[in-house]
Amino acid sequence: MFDYLIVGCGLAGVTCARLLAENGYRVLIIDRRNHIGGNVYDYYNEDGILVHKYGPHIFHTQHRKVWDFLSRFTQWHYYQHRVLSLVRGKLVPLPINVDTINLLYNTNYSSETIQEFYDRVSQPDIPVTNAKEMVIKKIGNELYELFFKEYTRKQWGLDAEMLDPEVTARIPIRYNRDDRYFEDRYQGMPRFGYTRMITNMLDHPQIHVMLNADFAFVKDKLDYDRIIYTGPIDAFFDYKHGKLPYRSLEFQFETLDCNYYQTVATVNYPNDYDFTRITEFKHMTGQVHPKTAIVREYPCAAGEPYYPIPKAENKALYAKYHEEAETQENLYFTGRLGLYQYLNMDVVVKEAMELVEKLLGRSLV
Ligand code: FAD
Ligand code: UDP
Repeated sequence: MFDYLIVGCGLAGVTCARLLAENGYRVLIIDRRNHIGGNVYDYYNEDGILVHKYGPHIFHTQHRKVWDFLSRFTQWHYYQHRVLSLVRGKLVPLPINVDTINLLYNTNYSSETIQEFYDRVSQPDIPVTNAKEMVIKKIGNELYELFFKEYTRKQWGLDAEMLDPEVTARIPIRYNRDDRYFEDRYQGMPRFGYTRMITNMLDHPQIHVMLNADFAFVKDKLDYDRIIYTGPIDAFFDYKHGKLPYRSLEFQFETLDCNYYQTVATVNYPNDYDFTRITEFKHMTGQVHPKTAIVREYPCAAGEPYYPIPKAENKALYAKYHEEAETQENLYFTGRLGLYQYLNMDVVVKEAMELVEKLLGRSLV
């Protein structure tokens, strides 16, 4: 009955569904959750404030084809994300920039003279084999300890020495006063939310959606030719090579009876409390409302598999599953869980577009 069964109604699955449907295929997309959108699902809370159920999601990309594709399904609220970090009792810009250094050390560097500071603290000759060395090489031990050491320990339950360099490489070091969290050319929030954007992507006569449906329970009851699987790849293979580790989070939401709680969307707490950060949604969404909603993120080991853990031994275990997946006919894996990679939304969409191009045997643009 269906050409494709797509497992997972997140950005990866929905991108594949839309593109395959537009190319004439009949698609059934399922999710074990009771809603569409996967981890980008957002909704209006009981006070009418738009919040993200699975933590703050800001869209940003360098890839024009991804931006153009999503722009077919949403207008954008042109938002650029800003983050402050509470260090030594001061709220300072993150990524570390000229102002961060001046605020922390009571100095007066400019973009022209800051090189002098970094030259003094950096350790350019050390090799980079882990997430700690990635930082120390650029900014030395003191700034590493203030901004990265404890945050990373909280977030991953591991010391930065145990994680691959790509984890902390996500946060650049700035030689200027740019205080945006991302530098990508295209940045923004779907104007009416992610759920609305995903609803528009799924609105096609060749796409059928089934929620509250776990692949394990429905796979033998359905009629389809090919599978695209965006859930955890180890679960698909019944953990036969062992369990891939994931890091989870607990989200504590709160609505406050004030217009704004903090001055920027996100404040990081590397050295205080058990949560990593507090995000205030109205800064990101642009919503006007007399109250405000915030979320605190508490990292934990058990729960939904939000983060693949970038570590050599985990990648080696994933490689076994990937190798096995390659031998299967009519079965394809994509998405953050299917590829076991710490991917941002835009790369998830890009990977999904490229998988469909492979299946169609031609380029989409
Ligand atoms: P998911 O959204 O996880 O979707 C997979 C779906 O598969 C899930 O809905 C799941 O229920 C379903 N599923 C799994 N197994 C089964 C099964 N057996 N049967 C049926 N269904 C199943 N990226 C950014 O670019 N910017 C950000 O600001 C950003 N912030 C983030 C903040 C947090 C706290 C987290 C955790 C991630 C963030 N990301 C961000 C990353 C972003 O969430 C992902 O890149 C993206 O949502 C992944 O989409 P996906 O479709 O691959 O996976
Ligand atoms: N990080 C940190 N201190 C911070 C922010 C980030 O040590 O204040 C490190 C931490 O290891 C984190 C990684 O950099 O997991 C990537 O941060 P990012 O904000 O990109 O994480 P995400 O939004 O994906 O949770």
